[in-house]
Amino acid sequence: MKELSKQVALGIDVGSVTTKVIFVDENDEIIEGLYIRTKGNPIDTIKAGMIEAYNVITSKFGDIEVIAVGTTGSGRQLAGVVVGADIIKNEISAHAYAAIHEVPDVSTIFEIGGQDSKIIFIRNGAVIDFAMNTVCAAGTGSFLDHQAERIGVDIEKFGDYSLRATNPVRIAGRCTVFAESDMIHKQQMGATSEDIIAGLSESLVRNYLNNLARGKELLPKFVFQGGVSENIGIVKAFENAVGSEVIVPKNNKLMGAWGVAMLAKREIEITGQKTNFKGFKVTELEHKTRVFYCDGCANNCEVYEVIENGETIAYWGDRCGKWSNRLTSRVRRTERADRRQSEEINSEK
Ligand code: SF4
Repeated sequence: MKELSKQVALGIDVGSVTTKVIFVDENDEIIEGLYIRTKGNPIDTIKAGMIEAYNVITSKFGDIEVIAVGTTGSGRQLAGVVVGADIIKNEISAHAYAAIHEVPDVSTIFEIGGQDSKIIFIRNGAVIDFAMNTVCAAGTGSFLDHQAERIGVDIEKFGDYSLRATNPVRIAGRCTVFAESDMIHKQQMGATSEDIIAGLSESLVRNYLNNLARGKELLPKFVFQGGVSENIGIVKAFENAVGSEVIVPKNNKLMGAWGVAMLAKREIEITGQKTNFKGFKVTELEHKTRVFYCDGCANNCEVYEVIENGETIAYWGDRCGKWSNRLTSRVRRTERADRRQSEEINSEK
């Protein structure tokens, strides 16, 4: 008798710096997860990630059946139409879902990635508020990358250096330009690399909290996720700043993709529908994107078009739906629900 295929859900988180592609099993455990550089080409990155992850899990488990697909991140719509997503969710919902799954009584989530950072406030298992920083590099991973390069210390070793500091210096961290000149000054005054790196970690955390948490109630339990949560020096700096333990969950770098994969599974379970997933053959199709300005009215919307093998498969960016109504109805519905939730959270601020 032929063995049944292993049922899995696919989660894709497309960020501007990194893309995360993961598969979860029937117990919501990640059975394969990839963290790859987007390199300005999200479609090819997604395809390469899907093939690599597919090869790894089929070699471990044999045949697989993808029963649900979710996408999130700044490239979520693009990823969603290319692979055939069941849900397209904003990063707040996806990150919060995974954090609550891991730490059910979490109250505050710190998330710092390569180019942006966010804070999410949870009460009784639901998101009540959030803030995002997408414009200032001083509170993100790229700030640390840049400073590591300048000091000549491998970014992977930043955390260890930070923990060895005996007298961390205070670095003006409100922007990368100030931080850099301040760091040079401290080096010239004879501060050790350890003390400078610890000072940088504290300055990143200070900048993050000043930008995103000003006037907000910071309550434990705290969860810290995103690529920068790998850095033990930043974890300690957060713990010093909030005076409480900061939990780095397992799968800390994959939380968005993990959250949206689990949400996609729930969607399929609740609706009883079959997945929209187009299959791994999408990796062989040709995809192009085009941007144009609609002249249908004074809004002049910037509209994005996705073309698959010469045929338009999606539009977005139009305020009235003139173009995006061509999306498949299920994806459109979930994307609208996602947008509505973001608007509701914003309107409560
Ligand atoms: S997409 Fe709609 S709202 Fe935007 S410019 Fe065209 S007609 Fe106007």
